Amino acid sequence: MKENIEALNNRFRDSGPEDLLAWFAGEYKGKIAFSTSLGAEDQVVTYMIAAMQIPVKIFTLDTGRLFQETYDLLDITQKKYGITIDVYFPEAAGVEEMVKSKGINLFYDSIENRQLCCHIRKIEPLKRALQGMDVWITGLRKDQSVTRSDASMIEWDATFEKIKINPLINWDSDTMWKYLRAMNIPVNELHSQGYPSIGCMPCTRAVQPGEDVRAGRWWWELPQFKECGLHKKP
Ligand code: SF4
Repeated sequence: MKENIEALNNRFRDSGPEDLLAWFAGEYKGKIAFSTSLGAEDQVVTYMIAAMQIPVKIFTLDTGRLFQETYDLLDITQKKYGITIDVYFPEAAGVEEMVKSKGINLFYDSIENRQLCCHIRKIEPLKRALQGMDVWITGLRKDQSVTRSDASMIEWDATFEKIKINPLINWDSDTMWKYLRAMNIPVNELHSQGYPSIGCMPCTRAVQPGEDVRAGRWWWELPQFKECGLHKKP
């Protein structure tokens, strides 16, 4: 499959996100999953999957440190679209050991600690959620950050050994917000309070007008380190 990635990118170069999702859902029935963080991009993809009623497993990772507004949106989204979003939690033993040895707010102490926390609270549950899947759908967009600017619509993810498809990769922020409004898609209340990108509560803050959209994520780190490891390039 890995070698077909380029051919697939050529095939879908001018296609819309719905065409891409529908084709992959048809080809990979029971083997395709979408990881949503309930962010604005992910809400678009959830809406498309629900509206087209295509067989895609939708899941989210509850790190245990999310905002209440994110839990509220999870609830609202499931009810509005009549869908189930599977929730994966970190292994309790791993979290307990980490907190015991490094402290509850370890992520502020070093990049290593922050990455360890992301690994235990996100990567390990993500691996479980993707087990048995061939295709992983994400809501990545190129202009979200420097770490995402060279992403393609269809990629081979060497870390998780999955085909990764990014249906909104070429959408800009304006296109996305127009679509969200036009389709009346629910979004996180925090977006209107200065949070363009929302992750865990202790690692996310509001940004000032004109600041980069990812400036509020792990704001104490340099931009090139600002990934939790879910979308890391080897
Ligand atoms: Fe831990 Fe922060 Fe990563 Fe969430 S974003 S898993 S709290 S380091």
